[in-house]
Order: sequence, then structure tokens, then C-alpha cells
Amino acid sequence: MSNKIWLSSPHMGGNELKYIHDAFDNNWVAPLGPNVNGFEQDLEHFLKTDVKVAALSAGTAALHLALIECGVGYGDEVICQSMTFSASANPIAYQGAIPVFVDSEADTWNMCPIALREAINDRIRNGKKPKAIIVVHLYGMPAKMDEIIAIAEEFEVPVIEDAAEALGSKYKGKACGTFGRFGVLSFNGNKIITTSGGGALVCHTHEDKEKAVFLSTQARDNAPHYQHSHIGFNYRMSNICAGIGRGQMEVLEQRVESRRAMTQFYVELFADFSGVKVFTEPSEDFYSNHWLSAIVVDPLLAGFTREDLRLALLEDNIESRPLWKPMHLQPVFSEALYYGHMVAERLFEQGLCLPSGTNLTDSDRQRISQVVNKLLSQGV
Ligand SMILES: *Cc1c(COP(=O)(O)O)cnc(C)c1O
Repeated sequence: MSNKIWLSSPHMGGNELKYIHDAFDNNWVAPLGPNVNGFEQDLEHFLKTDVKVAALSAGTAALHLALIECGVGYGDEVICQSMTFSASANPIAYQGAIPVFVDSEADTWNMCPIALREAINDRIRNGKKPKAIIVVHLYGMPAKMDEIIAIAEEFEVPVIEDAAEALGSKYKGKACGTFGRFGVLSFNGNKIITTSGGGALVCHTHEDKEKAVFLSTQARDNAPHYQHSHIGFNYRMSNICAGIGRGQMEVLEQRVESRRAMTQFYVELFADFSGVKVFTEPSEDFYSNHWLSAIVVDPLLAGFTREDLRLALLEDNIESRPLWKPMHLQPVFSEALYYGHMVAERLFEQGLCLPSGTNLTDSDRQRISQVVNKLLSQGV
């Protein structure tokens, strides 16, 4: 059996261990220390906007704290893009709040501004204005932020931008994660850079960041004894993980280049086949880090389904995966409200994510080409 080709696996840059050694040498083996501060500064610098970043244990933790800081509590409604990973929506439930799912649009696969407006209007008619909007930049593709921010401002609802997959992506030249009241980043093992596990909350004021740090370190009041006036969390990033992050930041630009090159590889691979569409930017306004390359297979035109392709790849030990299953189709959210026009449903049926790691070799790409070309030439 040939080696497994993964969808997206960790790819170290080389200097990560240097930062970890520093931490050991100085005994900063704790959820605080120079790597945590250094990693936060690296991220602030990279995002090129006047933001304050709090490094946390996970992107999910960052989403949870963003909801708390937006004042989301028991029984409140929160709008969330349906087409996403479950971690975008779960923190709504942590707060005892109610998710209201919204469909995607076909250009970016992200929140449809038309469906968003319908959802807000309908919820207001039902007597409840949503407390927050969670918009996602799926697979690194920026959502239509101008339209979404305009609607959010019109109704005065804060936006939480789930940029877990979109570090390095830009919309109209501005970094994803810096548009909303809060932005969320993830450094899970499969993301474009990793700290083995980790996340960050992107804030726009010193006060918002300090509140996130306070809540993420068990909400200890300023007293010599242990005193608490709030419910706290153990959500801060460790100085060891942050050391990995600092090493990864040194190669982030390169990683974006390589991911984008992988998408270009698939564009060329599928160029002559009208039934397969590679997910690319709809216009110059969008710059995707292409965290994962993805395609949509129209079985009538292609002569095969995305499942045929997935199984053909699997036979050669190559991993590929259907797109995120929309949240409103998940058993756990089957009772939830949903506003949409069947875009997410069709994407889920026809979409497939392909190997996108930055550590893939030319021979890996050759193997992928061979499987694809065989299927394309034979049909099924
Ligand atoms: C990975 C991911 C998260 C969660 O991040 P973790 O660091 O794994 O907790 C949230 N939202 C999206 C869209 C993700 O892809």
C-alpha cells in the first residue's frame, strides 16, 4: 500500500523547537510567559490592523468568549452560518442560547446576505432580535463582508467572524478576522499553521482583550486570596504551545503561497472537465488562503459523483472529504430554525475537499493526478 496522503497535516517550519527550548530553559512551562506575549504580537503584526489578540487554548474557546463578551446568555438567539464545522455553533449551546442557522450563497459558500436579512427580519417579527451573528470564512474564502457588516450595522447586531480557517486571507486587502466586533482564529493540528492545539480572539480594544484574558484564566479578582465575582474558564494558551506558534508564524506567508499553489494545481487538473468546478475566488476583492482545496462535482455533466471520486482516491490511500455537513441537517440541531434557499444542501451533496497540505510532494501530486485522470477518462 502506498503512503497515506492526508487532507491537511501539520507542517513544522524549523524554529519551533528553539522557542520551546527557551521556555524550558527559563521554566516558563505555564499558561503564560514570553512566547504567549510574543505570539500575540506576531499575530497583531501579521493582521496589519490595529487589533489586540488574546491567545487561547482553542478556536472554540475564542468563540465562546466572544459570545460572552457580546452579552449572549440563556434563551438569546444567535445567527450562525449553517455551512460550517460544528465548533462555530456549539458555543451558542454552551451559553444556553438558541442557534438560528442561515444558508450560504454560491459565490463564496459563506453566509448569504439575502438569507441573513430574511432571518433577522423574521426573528424581529417573532419578538426577538438576534444577539450576535457568526459568519465563517469557509476553507479560507472570505465571506461577502461589506454586505454582511452593512446589515449587521443597520440592525445593530455585533458580528463574530469565525476566521479559524482563514488566517492569511483578505477581503478588499484587509485581513480576515479583523472585520467583526470579534475575530476567531484556530491553530488546531489541521489548520494552515498549528500550535498542536490552540486559538486566538481578535479584539479591537484593550478592554475587550483584557476581559478575554481575565475570563480565560479563571476570572480571579485582584486580591491576595482567591476571590471570584464571575464564572471563569481555563482557556488560556500555554507558553509551550505559543512557542510552536511563534515558529509557525515565521513560515505563514510561505504556507499561504503553497496552499494557493495546491488550488492552482487542481484548477489545471480539472481544467478540461466541465462537470468539476474548483472553488476559487469570485473576484479580485477576495483573496483566499485556500486552506483546503475543494471542488463541486455535477454528476450529470461529469459522468461520476463526488462519492465515486472519493472512493477512487481512497483506494489509493488518498484522503478526501465531503464538505462540512450543514448544521441544520445535523441530528443535534434538527430542531433549530433555518433560513435558506438550498445552497448549502447542494454544496454538501456535490462538494469534496481534496488533499491540500503544504507538505505534499511532487510524487504525491502525481498520484492524485493519476487517480483523477483515470476516473475522468473512464467515467464510471
Ligand atoms: C477548526 C475550526 C474551529 C474550531 O477551532 P479549534 O481550535 O479546533 O477549537 C471553529 N470554526 C471553524 C470553521 C473551524 O474550522
